[in-house]
Amino acid sequence: MRYDALIIGAGMSGLAAGIRLAQAGKRVAILERHYLWGGLNSFYKRAGRRFETGLHALTNYAAKGTHNVPLTRILRQLRIPHDALKLAPQRRSITALRTSGGDTLRLSYSNDMALLRSEVARLFPAQQDGFERLVAALPGYSGSSESDYATSARARIAEYVSDPLLVEMLMIAPLFYGSPTENDMSWAEYGILFRSIHLEGMARPEGGIKELLDLLIARFEQEGGELRMKTGVAAVLHGNGKVRGVRLDDGSELECERVLSSAGLVETEALCGTPSAREDDDRIGRLSFVETCCVLDRAPLELGHDATIVFYSDGERFRYERPEVPVEPRCGVITCPSNYQLREPDREHFVRITCPANYAYWKGLPEAAYAQEKTLAVESMLATAESFSFPIRPHTVFRDSFTPRTIERFTGHRGGAVYGSPRKARDGFTSLRGLELIGTDQGLVGVIGAMLSGITIANRSLLEPAGGAA
Ligand SMILES: Cc1cc2nc3c(=O)[nH]c(=O)nc-3n(C[C@H](O)[C@H](O)[C@H](O)COP(=O)(O)OP(=O)(O)OC[C@H]3O[C@@H](n4cnc5c(N)ncnc54)[C@H](O)[C@@H]3O)c2cc1C
Repeated sequence: MRYDALIIGAGMSGLAAGIRLAQAGKRVAILERHYLWGGLNSFYKRAGRRFETGLHALTNYAAKGTHNVPLTRILRQLRIPHDALKLAPQRRSITALRTSGGDTLRLSYSNDMALLRSEVARLFPAQQDGFERLVAALPGYSGSSESDYATSARARIAEYVSDPLLVEMLMIAPLFYGSPTENDMSWAEYGILFRSIHLEGMARPEGGIKELLDLLIARFEQEGGELRMKTGVAAVLHGNGKVRGVRLDDGSELECERVLSSAGLVETEALCGTPSAREDDDRIGRLSFVETCCVLDRAPLELGHDATIVFYSDGERFRYERPEVPVEPRCGVITCPSNYQLREPDREHFVRITCPANYAYWKGLPEAAYAQEKTLAVESMLATAESFSFPIRPHTVFRDSFTPRTIERFTGHRGGAVYGSPRKARDGFTSLRGLELIGTDQGLVGVIGAMLSGITIANRSLLEPAGGAA
């Protein structure tokens, strides 16, 4: 029994690729090691409640009927009606930065770019023209040149904006929402992230990530695709520079024409028999996070907090990097899912705090110390987060947290690297014909980016015989 395509991973990229191939009548199976789908963007149950691991926001918001934007294109390709997503737009979000003088600068934005424009004018009146020129100069979603990928976003922003505090503030949300590199990103990636966060905006499916995942799974199965959970791929089998199948964790083998892998760059190489990359290999991403999710006794709105998301830096230098300490409490993201413009208010109210973390620390921690260290780290995160939001701890009735160790365990991503490797394979090709990368390490991150990646590589594979650089 030979498959046209086998897909490694039931994350957003794998599911989207699977739907495209199944729609084209291909015999395709998605192989997922975990017992739940979604990958980095999943959900789990604790104490009778559903917690989410990824999605703070679906970026690239577009109202129904908007043409020529990524969300509309994705939905059309996957044949999912816009209404099925039940998208609730954000109320407003904030980038907040505390200066060395102790003032907190707050830039608000919504899905209407006019708000960000007026906020820049309010806080940095002398920078208005520069900001407009920056927005006009942003690279588009496609067609960025190699030099856009080689150019520092910070350096380019500083060509338009002369106030270093505004430069810093304009880096915070895009870095948090998709940079695999520390403290800076390429100008090309900045263009994509700025557009997806600020020019298009943020929303959330009313039912959370499970709603979106259920839609994708249903589409895949309706088209005749095969979803095999608890089915890890132990090796990619190949000969003469071409893929011929996979060996599963249980030792059985499946034959196929091509493999699309969302496991990651070094992770996929290891499946092909290349010795496993060392921990200090610079192709393993350094950005991972501790996240805590608090269940509140009332809505954040009742506590005077109306922001959907707050991206914050407690200091003029935003420390988007792997910290020396277990967790970096001085910067983070505060997400209140109840603060989307929901038609049906949430029955329970969550707030999620996410801060950069040191993978090696969490990985090396003895089991006996893990729970206590996690509590200490989360307390330090909450203390700073509260100074940018509202008193979270007095209103918390339950909380659950995860670390880089959890992320690595459930997704297989080395280093718990949420945005994967800093070296992206942007054409998706590997050294083996018929083996292509999709998702994070093909260079498109986030929920929308990963789906777009899966669709793009699957579409190309429909046009070409099993491709590859070999
Ligand atoms: C805390 C957190 C918050 C986030 N917030 C947002 C957000 O607000 N907005 C947003 O757009 N994005 C967000 N993201 C990022 C987003 O979730 C990811 O970029 C996206 O889901 C990546 O999808 P993917 O398909 O590339 O990879 P993954 O989700 O990593 O999927 C890969 C899958 O492959 C499986 N796998 C790996 N190796 C094997 C193997 N050998 N055999 C079988 N299966 C294997 C893994 O188990 C996994 O399910 C967040 C992520 C995290 C962790």
